[in-house]
Amino acid sequence: MREKTRELLKTEHYTNLFSMDKDNIVEMLKFDEKDAEELFRKAREVRSKYMEKFVVRGVVEASNYCRAKCLYCSMNAGNEKLPRYRMSADEIVKSAWKGYNHDIKMILLQTGEDPLFLDYMIPAIKRIKSEMPDAEIICCNGERTEKEYQALKDAGADKYILKFETSNPELYKKYRPHSTLEKRLNCAHLIKKVGLGLGTGFIIGLPGQTDEDIANDILMIKNLQPTPMASACPFIPNKGTELENEKAGDLFYSFKVVGISRLINPSVCMPACSPYEYLKKGGQIDGTGIGCTSVTIRLTPDKYRDLYQLYTNDRITINLDMAKEVVEAAHANWENF
Ligand code: SAH
Repeated sequence: MREKTRELLKTEHYTNLFSMDKDNIVEMLKFDEKDAEELFRKAREVRSKYMEKFVVRGVVEASNYCRAKCLYCSMNAGNEKLPRYRMSADEIVKSAWKGYNHDIKMILLQTGEDPLFLDYMIPAIKRIKSEMPDAEIICCNGERTEKEYQALKDAGADKYILKFETSNPELYKKYRPHSTLEKRLNCAHLIKKVGLGLGTGFIIGLPGQTDEDIANDILMIKNLQPTPMASACPFIPNKGTELENEKAGDLFYSFKVVGISRLINPSVCMPACSPYEYLKKGGQIDGTGIGCTSVTIRLTPDKYRDLYQLYTNDRITINLDMAKEVVEAAHANWENF
C-alpha cells in the first residue's frame, strides 16, 4: 500500500491526486521526512500549476464577545476573567485603512460569536466598500442565521469563513458542546445559499483526533466545494481553557495535512497560519514550501490585541516586513514544472 501511495506522487495525471481515497491519505499522514519531501514537492508543483500568486490578508479582530463555549478557545463565554471589547465601525474602518494603505486589499473581519455583531459589521462593511471599492471583505463571525448572512452579503461582504473544526461528530460535540456538526454544516450551506464565498477548514491535533479523523477532515474540504479558501491549523493550547495543559498540534504533521489538502483541492487558497510561527520561528516561511498561498497580518489596534487570544497571550504577530519575507519566499519556490 505504501508503495502504491508513493507511486501516486509521481503521477503527471493530477486527476489521480484529486481523487485520492482515504487509505492513501492515511498512508501519507504516516510519511517519514523523506517521503514527506516528495509530498511537499508535489504540493508545490500543483500550487504552481493551479494558483497564480501568494496573497497577504489583513485581519481586524473586531470583538471578543462570544456566546459560544468552544473548549479550545480562550474567548469562550465561560471565561469570565477575559475583559471584553467591541470595536466601533469607525475603528474598524480605520484599521482596514492601515492595511489598504500598504496594498492589502483582502480584509478579514473576525469576531467571537458576538450577538451584537451586525451593529458594527454592517456600517463598517458599507464604509470599507465605499472608501476602498476594490477591497475584498471576508467575514468570520461564527454560526448565524440565514438573515444575518444575507445582511452581511447585502452590505457588500464577499466571503465568509466558517471552519467545521472537526468532521468527527462526537469530537465536535465534545469540543463545541453548545452546537453540533450538523448545525455548523448547515450554516456553511446557508453561507453559500446567500451568495457568499465559503472559506472552511479544521483544527489539527485536537486531543483524541486520529489519522482517520484527519483524513475525513481533508476529504470534507472537498465535499464542501466550491470553496475558495480552506485552512488547516495546528491546535494551540490556550491559557485559561480546559485544554491549556494538552499537547499542541505537531508542525511536521500539520505540514503533511496541508500538502495533502493541496493535492486534493488544487485551487483553494490555504494560509500559512500564525500557529506555524508559534510552533517554530520561521514556520510560516517553511509553510510556503508545502503549498500554502496566503499569510495574514493583524490590523487590530494595539490596545485590543492581547484581548483577542486565539492562540495564547504571547501569540506570534506577523508584521508587514515578515509578511513581505513570506511572500518573497513563496514566490521563490513557485517553480516552473
Ligand atoms: N467565532 C468564529 C471565529 C472563531 S476564531 C467562529 O466560530 O467561526 C477562528 C478560528 O480559530 C476557529 O475557527 C478555529 O479553527 C481557530 N482556533 C480557535 N482556537 C484555536 C486553538 N486553540 N488552536 C487552534 N486553532 C484555534
